[in-house]
Amino acid sequence: MPVEHAVRIVRRNGGTARTRVLRRGGVSRRTLAAAVHTGALVRPRQGVYALPTLTDARREALSHRGALACVSAAREHGIWTLDDGADGRTHTWVHPQRHPTRFTLDPETAGAACCVFHRDLPIGEPELHRVGVVQCLLQIHGCRGEDAFFAALESALRRRLIGRQERRLIRDRLPGRSRWLVDFARSDADSGLESLLRLRLHRRGITLASQVAIPGVGVVDFVIGDRLILEADGRTHDGDSRHKDRVRDATAMALGFITLRFDSALILHDWPLVEAAILSALSEDLHRSPAGRRWSDQ
Ligand SMILES: [Zn+2]
Ligand SMILES: [Zn+2]
Repeated sequence: MPVEHAVRIVRRNGGTARTRVLRRGGVSRRTLAAAVHTGALVRPRQGVYALPTLTDARREALSHRGALACVSAAREHGIWTLDDGADGRTHTWVHPQRHPTRFTLDPETAGAACCVFHRDLPIGEPELHRVGVVQCLLQIHGCRGEDAFFAALESALRRRLIGRQERRLIRDRLPGRSRWLVDFARSDADSGLESLLRLRLHRRGITLASQVAIPGVGVVDFVIGDRLILEADGRTHDGDSRHKDRVRDATAMALGFITLRFDSALILHDWPLVEAAILSALSEDLHRSPAGRRWSDQ
């Protein structure tokens, strides 16, 4: 079926395709019109066809003759993003030598633009609907700052979306004052919360051992000094796993450890309290044990 063939091409292109790609694939204009008519495809702008499952963000970016950028692109790449009370607008990249096809001011938000626009030069060959991972991470640095960038970078490393070459490219393109973040990044951070915790405590001069295996307890997120365990809990720590966490803390305590556990709401929205708790524990020497270090490197 010609329509199904067109849908297949769009799917193979990641969910969006230009008319010329479809025409090159042997799809006629009549078939494209039929595909749109029956709802098999949608046309977010002239010259671009998409699967009907296209997200609102993608539709918005494409309608500007742009692509998803920054945190909006990160989400589509599967990169963890720091949701720090952003206003929910789509971040849209438009080539600096082109004009957005549409520029809307929203009266509800005091005349703010409908999107956060990024107009940087492309890095590599951006896809039709989103910028590449390197460009996306650099945009996050410029738009959302160091913490959001660092958490996204570690997430991209963990998911193996970037390799050594891309890492070097990102480092080179960052302003000098932020380059250390790339050197400090690891690929084994379990979650964005862990990335933030490690980065923010590092700024306070506190060194953490990450992903420490403690026999009888399992792998804990961090250990400070001889015995102070820090755990950053994501959203899955309720119900059954809540009980497991309690067992884990009791077992750790029986082995001479002390556990401080913080959830995502605390780490994301009340960092000063988290920091005060950890600094207080350190000033009370809770991380030191008279028996010496309770754990060993693997
Ligand atoms: Zn942005
Ligand atoms: Zn917009």
